[in-house]
Order: sequence, then structure tokens, then C-alpha cells
Amino acid sequence: MRDKKVPGWLSGLLLGAVFGGLIWLERRRPLRQPVESKVKRGARNLAVAALAGVTVQALEVPVAKRLASLVEQRRWGLLKLFRLPLWVEVLLAVGLMDYTLYLWHVLAHRAPLIWRFHVAHHVDLDLDITTALRFHFGELLLSVPWRAGQILIIGVAPLSLSVWQTALFLSVLFHHSNVRLPIKVEQRLNRFIVTPRMHGIHHSIVEEETNSNWSSGLTLWDRLHGTLRLNVRQDEITIGVAAYRAPEEVTLPRILEMPFIEQRPAWQLAGNAPSLISSALCP
Ligand SMILES: [Zn+2]
Repeated sequence: MRDKKVPGWLSGLLLGAVFGGLIWLERRRPLRQPVESKVKRGARNLAVAALAGVTVQALEVPVAKRLASLVEQRRWGLLKLFRLPLWVEVLLAVGLMDYTLYLWHVLAHRAPLIWRFHVAHHVDLDLDITTALRFHFGELLLSVPWRAGQILIIGVAPLSLSVWQTALFLSVLFHHSNVRLPIKVEQRLNRFIVTPRMHGIHHSIVEEETNSNWSSGLTLWDRLHGTLRLNVRQDEITIGVAAYRAPEEVTLPRILEMPFIEQRPAWQLAGNAPSLISSALCP
């Protein structure tokens, strides 16, 4: 059973339905007003996403699949030290994958080499469901050894891997989306999972706001590490990275070359503008 996986048609159906539903909701109940033309930006983000998709399919998917099969056959990794009931093993594996992805995301901001690539995701001047797919292919390439380590150390079997992948994809689409949920719903949800307003704070041009809300699935990890931040109003947030505010600096070629050229101090506004934009805290 553990060497089975979530059927492709089921995860495809789920992802398609959630993607379509969120796009519909983004039109009906937008959370933030767009800065750039939606069509132009959407096409650009999908182009970055296509390169990312090819990288994932060519490298991450086969490596992760192979390692998960080996974990199952040879009982490698932490969870395989015990004979756990199937549902316990899957839950623990998904939870630990989610936690170690939190650590990767912190690293993506703290380690200059990874930040060079992760910045391509953050310089988007708007935040919506297309941002969820817009990762530089180089970041995905760099994350392959991390993913391999996660699978081998935790002991992630194929079933757990496919459950985590599907759940993560759904979560990433949801919390990047530009959907204005009723505030009560949002507050109830963010006790457990990352929500659009919460992730909006992580995409702020203000450094200390970006250095919060690193979780990708459960908010538990931000709570444990004291990095959860919910006290910034969405209409006081400017989305992006302070050093790259001009639309002509975030075109498709500029995004793709960004990791390979000299880096600017990311949190200082370009020109001689004040280095930090303070944001008012709301009660
Ligand atoms: Zn980030």
C-alpha cells in the first residue's frame, strides 16, 4: 500500500478544480488591486512557470520517485525505524516534509546563493495565483538535493510523497491567490493553514514583514519559531522587493537573468529613497 500513490487523475482533477475556482474567486473578490496589466503579467509568470515545470519533471520528479521507492524497499529513514500504521506514517511524513520545507524557505531568504533565485519569485509586483507557479528554474534545481535529503532522512514512501506533493500544490495555489476571504474565515483558517492575507505579508517590500510567515502549509511552524505575523493590514502592504520596483526591471528576460548578475541590497528602495518603508500596525 505504501508503495502506491495518489492516482494522477485524482490529483489532476483536484488541482484543476481548485485552480479554476480560485481564478473565478480572484475576479469576484479581489484582495489587492493589481499594479501591472493582468494579461501581460500572467503570460510572463506562466513562461517562468513553464521553465520551472520542465525542470521539475526532468529532475525533481524522477529523483524523488526513485528515492521514495528505495525508502520503501529498504526501510530507510526515520519513520521506517518503526512499524507505524499506514495513516500515522503518512500524516507524520507529510508533517515533517512541511516542516523541512519551512526550513528550506528560511534558507532561501538567508543564504545569498539561494536568495539570488528566490528573489525572482518575490519581485512580482502583484501577488495572485500565477505567482504561485512563478519560481526560477534555478531555485528548483537547487532544491533537488534538499528534497532528496528530506525523503531519505524522514523516510518518505511513495504514497506519503504523493499526498504531500498534492497537498503542497493545493496550499501554494491557495495562499498566493488574490482572494478576499471574509476576515472571520481567514482568521479561523490561519490557526491551522497559511492564508492569502498571511502570505501577502511575506511578499511585502518591507524587510521585517518579508522575514515572517515562512510556512507553506501548516502555520504551526511559524508559531513554533515565533515568525508568525498577522498584524499588518493588506491595504498597507506594497507587494514586491524594494530594490526592484520599476515594471521594466521585472520583465521576463530580467527575471531569468536576475540570479546571474550583480545583486542589489534587496530591501533598499532603488535610487536615494529611504531604505525602509514603515508600515502601520493595526490592532
Ligand atoms: Zn519567500
